[in-house]
Amino acid sequence: MDQVYIRDVAKYIGQQITIKGWLYNKTDKGRLQFLMIRDGTGMIQVVAFKKEMTAEAFEAALAVTQESSLIVSGIVRQDERAAGGFELSLSDIQIVQLTQDYPITPKEHGIDFLMDNRHLWLRSRNQWAILRVRSAVIRAIRDYLDNNGFILMDTPILTPAACEGTTTLFETEYFGEKAYLTQSGQLYNEATIMAFGRTYCFGPAFRAEKSKTRRHLIEFWMVEPEMAYADLEECLRVEENLVSYIIQRTLEECAEELKILERDTSRLEGIVPPFPRISYTDAIAVLKEMGEELPWGEDFGAPHEVAIASRYDKPVFVHRYPAQCKAFYMETDPLDPQLSLSADLLAPEGYGEIIGGGQRTASLELLERRIAEQNLPREAFEWYLDLRRYGTVPHSGFGLGVERTVTFICGIHHIRETIPFPRTLGRIYP
Ligand code: ATP
Ligand code: MG
Repeated sequence: MDQVYIRDVAKYIGQQITIKGWLYNKTDKGRLQFLMIRDGTGMIQVVAFKKEMTAEAFEAALAVTQESSLIVSGIVRQDERAAGGFELSLSDIQIVQLTQDYPITPKEHGIDFLMDNRHLWLRSRNQWAILRVRSAVIRAIRDYLDNNGFILMDTPILTPAACEGTTTLFETEYFGEKAYLTQSGQLYNEATIMAFGRTYCFGPAFRAEKSKTRRHLIEFWMVEPEMAYADLEECLRVEENLVSYIIQRTLEECAEELKILERDTSRLEGIVPPFPRISYTDAIAVLKEMGEELPWGEDFGAPHEVAIASRYDKPVFVHRYPAQCKAFYMETDPLDPQLSLSADLLAPEGYGEIIGGGQRTASLELLERRIAEQNLPREAFEWYLDLRRYGTVPHSGFGLGVERTVTFICGIHHIRETIPFPRTLGRIYP
């Protein structure tokens, strides 16, 4: 008989079906064995009742161990008490492989052990839920951008120069020359927008982050939309529309996953535009009142982000950071040259920054000055300067971190669980 996936069992009530999967866990009640089976699409309780099957099949149900691979057949029954609302009355079971001593048992394990066994840990229910949310988030991002006039432009991973500061660069060798793993595709998409109007890249970014935090990965995925003829205001509008779309789509598509994760979804439902905004300078004053004083001109650390965001139910934009806090390509605020036309989006509930972005410098002269001031290798940026020589326009863009967004939507503590095989400070295995 053809395989039925657990996500589709509702269509087969009262019918005999076959499920191919693995044993998640088992409860032994003597003549009744309750097998929790997963097949990648979901889990279902399978009930083996001694009286209703051959002695041989019942023996197999007794013998099967955690994470054995198996094929089961039986009748689908609706049952309110069962997780998911359905169960399978087992008639036959075939063990594909009888697993011995699966390392991750239902008892508590330490995080190092789980990370060493990440290749197996992925099978656990919460990890399954988180990574399905990740997939839904990525789908929502792509749908939003593809349906709103953005063209996908894949930018290179091997690059000749830094764009987000040299301290986090991964260096490699390129036929006898130095090359670096990309930290961001933005500079390249400042070129593609002059050909296509609105573009985005979506790929991995590499940053050798030297401090251990629960918000930083060494390899993470970022979507970076870039728009010609868009100012900071327009940029923020796109950001709030995109973020609320991602959240609302995920709430629709991942209700089951968020329930497994015990996420309080009422906190996500209200996240619709417009998002609140506060200037960096006002935020500094607020921080002082809150006892998180910071000298004007310094970039926020995690405690400052958390304090500001705690005042709002929605993500909040902090805009117009001092130019000195931001990268060389940020546009200057015409009303105050100390400020940049930049904005970060801070998630509520202490999840920190999920987007960094702003308006890019349109002026050749200003860019040349910044490149010199910051001792950046001018030759590597000649092509970038051309974009200001030949038809420069006001333009803006931003980078949204996929894993930060998934951490926030799932309501989990640490970013490392939001990517199948995390690269973290000091860990590259498995
Ligand atoms: P932070 O100050 O938190 O390190 P950043 O200012 O370096 O962030 P940007 O360069 O603006 O971040 O990158 C855009 C987005 O990419 C961030 O808002 C965040 O969502 C994500 N991001 C940046 N660095 C990391 C990282 N090491 N791991 C995971 N996501 C990251
Ligand atoms: Mg950083």
